[in-house]
Amino acid sequence: MTKYKMAFIFFPFSFLLLLTMDSTTFTTDKEDAKYMQLAIEQANLSVPVEGAYCVGAVLVKDNTVLSTGFSRELPGNTHAEECALAKVVAPNKDNTRELFKGATMYTTMEPCSTRLSGNRPCTDRLIEADIKRVVLGIKEPPHLVVCTGIAQLQSHGIQVQVVPDVAEQCLAPNAHIKSKN
Ligand SMILES: [Zn+2]
Repeated sequence: MTKYKMAFIFFPFSFLLLLTMDSTTFTTDKEDAKYMQLAIEQANLSVPVEGAYCVGAVLVKDNTVLSTGFSRELPGNTHAEECALAKVVAPNKDNTRELFKGATMYTTMEPCSTRLSGNRPCTDRLIEADIKRVVLGIKEPPHLVVCTGIAQLQSHGIQVQVVPDVAEQCLAPNAHIKSKN
């Protein structure tokens, strides 16, 4: 095999490796733990459907909850983070984007980077909204798609941290997915 051919074969894999490389740190902040529990409560409000996770999200800025969201809360196969962003409307609608600046999105699961439905991934929405920080409970399990949400957020300068010891709580509403694997 020529070197050219080997490089050609290796390239797609190296690209995938780069996309899936991420480094997260744990947060032991009590406020983060508190808002993660709120997000877990939201996840438990989500009605399970086949082929989709039950996730909860809470958007916080300056120690104030701007909004909450859970999977399929809004019509149209919506995701938790998507709902939380969509539910924020500033008194003056033109200022809604300003509210997102410097905000933290708490989510029970790594924001999606690929959606089987073809809808815009939450990772893209968070980057576009100029969210400062994302705090999550668990990385997306590889049951449905390969998720590169963390790496993509970090490549856009968004800090990503993980709340320790909540994995079981975040997975609990997703037994319908786990049971298929
Ligand atoms: Zn999503």
